[in-house]
Amino acid sequence: MKEQLMEMLESRKDEMIEIRRHLHEHPELSFKEEKTAQYILDFYEGKDVEVQSNVGNGFGIVVTIKGGKPGKSIGLRADFDALPIIEEADVPFKSKNEGVMHACGHDGHTAYLLVLADCLIQLKDEIPGTIKIIHQHAEEVPPGGAKSIVESGILDDLDNVFGIHLLPLGPAGVVGYHSGYSFNGRAYMKLKIQGRGGHGSSPHLANDAIVAGAHFVTAAQTIISRRLSPFENGVITIGSFDGKGTFNVIKDSVELEGDIRYMTDETKKKIEHEVKRIVKGIEEEFGVTCELAYENDYPPLYNDPEITEKVAEYLKNANDKDIKEVKEFPPMAPSEDFAYYAEKFLSCFFYIACTPKGEKDPYFNHHPKFDIDEDALLVAAKAVGYVVCGYYEVE
Ligand code: MN
Repeated sequence: MKEQLMEMLESRKDEMIEIRRHLHEHPELSFKEEKTAQYILDFYEGKDVEVQSNVGNGFGIVVTIKGGKPGKSIGLRADFDALPIIEEADVPFKSKNEGVMHACGHDGHTAYLLVLADCLIQLKDEIPGTIKIIHQHAEEVPPGGAKSIVESGILDDLDNVFGIHLLPLGPAGVVGYHSGYSFNGRAYMKLKIQGRGGHGSSPHLANDAIVAGAHFVTAAQTIISRRLSPFENGVITIGSFDGKGTFNVIKDSVELEGDIRYMTDETKKKIEHEVKRIVKGIEEEFGVTCELAYENDYPPLYNDPEITEKVAEYLKNANDKDIKEVKEFPPMAPSEDFAYYAEKFLSCFFYIACTPKGEKDPYFNHHPKFDIDEDALLVAAKAVGYVVCGYYEVE
């Protein structure tokens, strides 16, 4: 089966590229991917599988491929939403939906997985188990689609889940993995500081919200530098501080918004605790009133070491001209809602390198000029194909 699957994938490389370009031209924002979902449903039309649409809190689709023999169940996940970015990449299949762009490669994820799924459907008699293809909506915007798909119960019978991300980590042909904590968890915070406005000449009759806000920004950074162990990592970015006013008027109130990242649950709790402590301190120190909204969303993504080791082994033994190098990479700073699958099932989420040919300094995901080497689509399909064959021990 393995050889046959690889031949089928090779012969359908152009189709993967075609699908990717179609999706790239027609990107849709998270939770609004109606046409993309319809395109995916149309693809499965008439095929011998069970297709469930509108799964979870949006347009999620789960396709169940029942193998010819009993055995374990796995999920293969690809996301399909795009970003609110005006595309600047110079490609002939540029976004036709102005202001929306597939700048994270989810078009490629969906393209490879559709073709791979179709091949697995054709070969299903030889598969000892059940494969659920998870076409996931809304990865980019919390609460995301993954959590709701998991909570819907539709995946309850799974043993393991696998997924990939296209990343410009090297030329097409490189496949990367990381064991253990691999993508950051994330929290969002919004802080409103209420002081008392007044005349710029008379601070003693007012209570300056800007000064209190500035202290919060500085103090929050000491959580990372003074509260976390040097071997623990975290990030606090205050990305918005609405201090705009009039030069000679003391600001009545300010609002700040921030992004918090962490790699373990322990760090997550510590940062939240410390932020709240500093907010209390600011109230006490400056006599202002604070209103804090603090929400943890995507958890850190944990790749099960045993499953990850097996994935690496399947790929290293692939002996395939399209998979040129399989190597370990460091963890990634962004967050991924694949983490919700990995929380419930032992999982592995690995990386498919896609740096455009000849590019020495590629634009990273989410950049308006982000682009991929489309050869990476076949690499993705084959890599996940080898994982499936290795997992089910089919030759
Ligand atoms: Mn992504």
